[in-house]
Amino acid sequence: DLKGSVTLSNGVAMPYLGLGVYLSEEGKEVVNSVKWALEAGYRHIDTASIYKNETGVGKGIKESGVPREEVFLVSKVWNSDHGYDSTIQAFENSLKRLGTDYLDLYLIHWPVKGKYKETWRALEDLYKQKRIRAIGVSNFLQHHLEDLMDQAEIVPMVNQMECHPYLVQQDLIDFCRKNTIQYECWSPLMQGKIFELDVMKTLAQKYGKTIAQIVVRWDLQKGLVTIPKSTKKDRIIANANVFDFELSQDDVQLLNQLERSERFGPDPDNFDF
Ligand code: NAD
Repeated sequence: DLKGSVTLSNGVAMPYLGLGVYLSEEGKEVVNSVKWALEAGYRHIDTASIYKNETGVGKGIKESGVPREEVFLVSKVWNSDHGYDSTIQAFENSLKRLGTDYLDLYLIHWPVKGKYKETWRALEDLYKQKRIRAIGVSNFLQHHLEDLMDQAEIVPMVNQMECHPYLVQQDLIDFCRKNTIQYECWSPLMQGKIFELDVMKTLAQKYGKTIAQIVVRWDLQKGLVTIPKSTKKDRIIANANVFDFELSQDDVQLLNQLERSERFGPDPDNFDF
């Protein structure tokens, strides 16, 4: 189980640590990544229809021999599929590619203006029909969440956001916690740029761990779900080897204070859909 799950607001257990597969190539690359991760004890895989690798993710899970019900499988509805009917169709297509008949978590990938409420209604219905064990959003700022919850029947169980030492967004984390929305970090390694920071090199040396392990540990100690990505077997294994040390409170704070509102991905308010 790679040391622990959070219980979402609806009682479903979500493993804190998962494997991200954005830009993992469909075919051998993603199949192997998923297999190596499951072998190493990961039980949570994060994909999306736009990653164009759901077929390989499904194949990796099957070939791993780990029973489907032991894997927390996440996918997302893409921007061009927003709207009630097209979301239902996109969901069915994802299931088909993944070779499964349910998802553990389905997310609205981005808050497409004027459309995400209809999309959310589709997710609510799929959830009520027990096709999805939990539903959530991604890249929703506080105003998006407030706007959605204003009419939603079900409060999103998860908000998956860009989150790393240069983009902490503590106010949004606090808002989510208050509303029982689990915060999840995408690009926790700053898409590779974290490895250039001197402060990370210093911390890695201090704890005798890698930079990736320091930042994954930082997420976990703050109670955030995190999904570092790698396609290399040794890194997939190492990135999850974070349960034999603890960051001091001072060092947790030190990383929190690196915040400089710097994004490596799009701005949810200015995404050219
Ligand atoms: P990341 O921050 O996880 O960084 C991944 C990169 O870091 C890899 O390509 C690799 O080059 C490098 N790396 C990984 N482990 C390493 C190690 N031990 N040593 C040296 N280099 C290492 O980047 P990401 O893939 O953008 O984010 C993680 C996951 O988050 C994605 O795969 C995807 O599942 C999800 N995501 C979601 C959204 C969204 O809009 N919801 C957007 C981006 C990513």
